[in-house]
Amino acid sequence: MSASRIIRRAVLKLSGEVLGTDGGPLDEGALLFFAGEIAAARYQGLELAVVPGGGNVARGSALPHLPAYAGHSIGMLSTLINAVALREALAAQGVPCSVQSAVPCAGIAGPVDVWSGRRALDEGQVLILAGGTGSPFVTTDTAAVIRALALGAGIVAKGSKVDGIYDSDPNTNAGAVRLERVSHRDYLSRGLKVMDAAAVSIAFEHRLPLVVFKADQAGAFVDAINGKAGSRIE
Ligand code: UDP
Repeated sequence: MSASRIIRRAVLKLSGEVLGTDGGPLDEGALLFFAGEIAAARYQGLELAVVPGGGNVARGSALPHLPAYAGHSIGMLSTLINAVALREALAAQGVPCSVQSAVPCAGIAGPVDVWSGRRALDEGQVLILAGGTGSPFVTTDTAAVIRALALGAGIVAKGSKVDGIYDSDPNTNAGAVRLERVSHRDYLSRGLKVMDAAAVSIAFEHRLPLVVFKADQAGAFVDAINGKAGSRIE
């Protein structure tokens, strides 16, 4: 798929790290900024589902003193916290939105339901998808890919603190080279890390393009969708 293909429906995977600061997991300014970015994309005609990560609160891999399944459960619950915070930030800007969760959470979010999710997107609501996949041992990258496939989205855009895909970790290797574009197959064979291999593997199987972009720049999300920012896996 070329970068210029018109995308009507997209999934925004928002890494939890961009929602908080050193002062706490949920930063009001960051939440309002991303609500504004999402609103701007919507006003440009994009139908949007948002899959929040949970890394600003907890990730299973950061809780090695717990059994892995429990750490991952805490990670999935963290995404619910972010989903509720994002919903409120969107609602404050008058953006119609709803939360569906893969982890049952009656009274806070409805269950993941592809049929009603597709209807919500058709109607112009922003659909926030919490709880990841609902299963341990994967991350919300994988959730974003499988939800995109189920909802008929044309791309997954992963917004985080990095501006793209590098051939090695730019935080530890000053000589890391940024890649504008890489095929799914090359991404996997080179063992690249910015998106989970499980997610890229499923995207490869279904020819779903992915884009990794630096989320805290105004307009970057729409630019990433339109092939003007970030690095692509396609
Ligand atoms: N997680 C999980 N299953 C899922 C999605 C997430 O077990 O389907 C857990 C996993 O421990 C993960 C954590 O929740 O590390 C938070 O998600 P993620 O790492 O994707 O958050 P991000 O780093 O993007 O903020």
